[in-house]
Amino acid sequence: MLKPAPAHAFNLEGDGKGKHIIILGAGLAGMTCAYELNKLGYQCTILEARHRTGGRCWSIRNGATNQEIDKPAVIAKFDDGLYFNAGPSRIPHHHELTLHYCKELGVPIQVYNNVNEGAYYFAEGKGPLSNKKIRVREIHNDIRGYMTEMLAKSIDHGGLDSAMTKEDGEKIIAYLQAEGGLDIDKLYKASARRGYTESPGAGDRPGKIAEPHKLADILHSGLMDPDFYNVAEYTYELQMTMFQAVGGMDQIARALEKKVAPSVKMGAEVTSINNLAEGVKITYKDATGVHELSGDMCICTLPLPVLSNVNNNFSGDVSRAIDYISYIQTGKIGLQFKRRFWEEDEHIYGGITHTNNDLTQIFYPSYDYLGKKGILIGYYNFNEKAQKIGALGYADREKFALEKGRLIHPQYDKEFEGSFSVSWHKTKYNLGGWAVYSTETRKTQYPVLLKPDKHVYFAGEHLTYLNAWMAGAFESARSTVAALHARVTEGRASYPAVK
Ligand SMILES: Cc1cc2nc3c(=O)[nH]c(=O)nc-3n(C[C@H](O)[C@H](O)[C@H](O)COP(=O)(O)OP(=O)(O)OC[C@H]3O[C@@H](n4cnc5c(N)ncnc54)[C@H](O)[C@@H]3O)c2cc1C
Repeated sequence: MLKPAPAHAFNLEGDGKGKHIIILGAGLAGMTCAYELNKLGYQCTILEARHRTGGRCWSIRNGATNQEIDKPAVIAKFDDGLYFNAGPSRIPHHHELTLHYCKELGVPIQVYNNVNEGAYYFAEGKGPLSNKKIRVREIHNDIRGYMTEMLAKSIDHGGLDSAMTKEDGEKIIAYLQAEGGLDIDKLYKASARRGYTESPGAGDRPGKIAEPHKLADILHSGLMDPDFYNVAEYTYELQMTMFQAVGGMDQIARALEKKVAPSVKMGAEVTSINNLAEGVKITYKDATGVHELSGDMCICTLPLPVLSNVNNNFSGDVSRAIDYISYIQTGKIGLQFKRRFWEEDEHIYGGITHTNNDLTQIFYPSYDYLGKKGILIGYYNFNEKAQKIGALGYADREKFALEKGRLIHPQYDKEFEGSFSVSWHKTKYNLGGWAVYSTETRKTQYPVLLKPDKHVYFAGEHLTYLNAWMAGAFESARSTVAALHARVTEGRASYPAVK
């Protein structure tokens, strides 16, 4: 009658007996592998090319440096205490392992406000509602209202008779009235849900309810296009409640680093990975020269676009998988402002403004509410848009973010202080945002890397179904540690795959 173990329990039996495991990369996956393997009695060395740990789990504050492949290194100049998350910024409430490690490592978390009906939609174009910022709540309520009105009418007029009984039809109409805010005649009219043109107050100020936008105007202005799909509430990973680490998401990496610090060699760029008859030989270079390191086994967490350029003697299947799995292009810019005008002037506390232009999104900070200054994420874009903006120099990215951003927030002109941008597909040691599988590569290439190539295991966000999430790095690390440990403790000659 024992209670089932929680999903995050990880109680492996047996001893690693000091076997030397060389781990490539000190991102969350690499450090989690070392953390768990150390507990099991292994001796780990982590080789990390950068002079910091965390990889993509990176918060930009004053003094942060970035090196993109076709640009000089840059240094962030922000006020002390301000930061933005260049990589992960949100933790879904069901990412149990991410939350588990925050708890185990003592990283405090706070709610991240991902859904904000008070932020804006901004559609560039030629429609009647184009080039205007419109509160998300207005568009959401109008679309819900018009769509439910249409459905209610079609049920009323017998359009769906064959599919339901009269009683079912009445129940559905009652639901549609509630969902869409329809009146007694099942018509969508102005109501308080979508907001006021004059807020209610004391005395003789009942407030003035705003009129709905016309459905045709919404449609013709592109506000029903997929750019404005209701991502936050409808996507499993983006539904509230969401969390963030207090003081920047890199606090998770820092807490892990503290646990594995003696195992980490920073500034050590891996240049070659070789399976030997017994064990592995890794070549790396650092400020002092080229070195070789031998170990019993290796866990490689290098992102695949980087690994693709590292010498190795992997099998043909493994090399092909490394080359075929693609990564997303993505970029962000942090913009520091001397006043939190989005809060003071526009009542926006956290959340996201969506656009159909190359900005794609503006993220408002979910910390320091009512503080003095703040950093907005001025764009967060993907694919072609990220490629186009990432191709610009740093100054031109800033110019672009300010030009497009001031159409929504004219306060940009007066309040802007400085920026820092990261284009992940151009960032050395990543060369991509996260792995993106097609049905084909998931079927043919993904399983290849779940198996070790002789003494080399692979781990990282890319080897899970949780791509683009820190949870992927944690889950993959644990699966790999379990597979490697089973091989060692069971003395297997064969190579169990990662589950
Ligand atoms: C823009 C963006 C937004 C994201 N948003 C979220 C989010 O909101 N929530 C969330 O949970 N996750 C998010 N993620 C995903 C999350 O950041 C990753 O899934 C996770 O951090 C990946 O960890 P990793 O250890 O697998 O890889 P990495 O962090 O990439 O670690 C790989 C390590 O290998 C090192 N390395 C590379 N080449 C070499 C070499 N030759 N020699 C030695 N070392 C090398 C790198 O420096 C790095 O430290 C986001 C990622 C990005 C890019």
